Parts: sequence; structure tokens; C-alpha cells
Amino acid sequence: MPNINVKTKGEGDVIDLTSAVGGIVSTSKVKEGAATVFVVGSTAAITTIEFEPGLAADMREAAERLFPRGIDYEHHRRWGDGNGHSHVRAAFVGPSVTVPIIKGKLALGTWQQIVLLEYDVRPRDRTVIVQAVGA
Ligand code: ZN
Repeated sequence: MPNINVKTKGEGDVIDLTSAVGGIVSTSKVKEGAATVFVVGSTAAITTIEFEPGLAADMREAAERLFPRGIDYEHHRRWGDGNGHSHVRAAFVGPSVTVPIIKGKLALGTWQQIVLLEYDVRPRDRTVIVQAVGA
């Protein structure tokens, strides 16, 4: 099963994975089932949003309101890597989504894209595992 490899620009980057996931689903020949899309690592997340710049900014601002960067995190004290907020944000969104496959296609809405949200404080090489499984 092929993975998707992406280079992110660091914190706040939002990357549309929809066509890459769709390509893997097509190649899989699964007609009815589900695709799990999972990012390896604990400072990035996968979800669905309408992929457009306004909403990408809204997601960044919401993350800052909910889990501010500039407060104390025990993780900072223990590791000094400055990304406690990154881990917490990633955990709340989650590392994966599962999308139904119907008639060989992802059952996404027109304004619903599968995105990777980068929360780490530095650019990262990300591996996204896609598994298409037939029902
Ligand atoms: Zn860390």
C-alpha cells in the first residue's frame, strides 16, 4: 500500500491530501469499503475541512485560542523542545480519518477535503499511510 510523503513548512501548514488519497483508492480497486488516512508522528493531525485559505487561517486561530503557544507546558519543561502546544493540538484533532469508499470513490462532500494539519514548530517530512479496505 503506497504512502503519501509530504514536506511541511512547519506550524500552521495545511496540506490538501484529497487527490493523493483518491489516487491510492483508485489503484486499490476497492469499490465498497473504507480508507483510513493516518499520519505518523504526534505533532501533526488529519481531518477534513473545506480547503481554502480563509478556513486554513481560521483553523490556525482556533488552535491558538484553544491551546495557546505562549503558556507553560510540562512537555517544555521536560524536553525543552518548545512544542508542547503542538502535541496537545495534534492529539485533540487526532492522527487519522476514515472515509467510506462507495462505488470506488471517496464519499466526500464537494466542499470537504482531507487535510494534514502541521502543528510542529519546524518544517517536517511527513509520512501519511493510506489503507483502503474492502467491505
Ligand atoms: Zn516535543
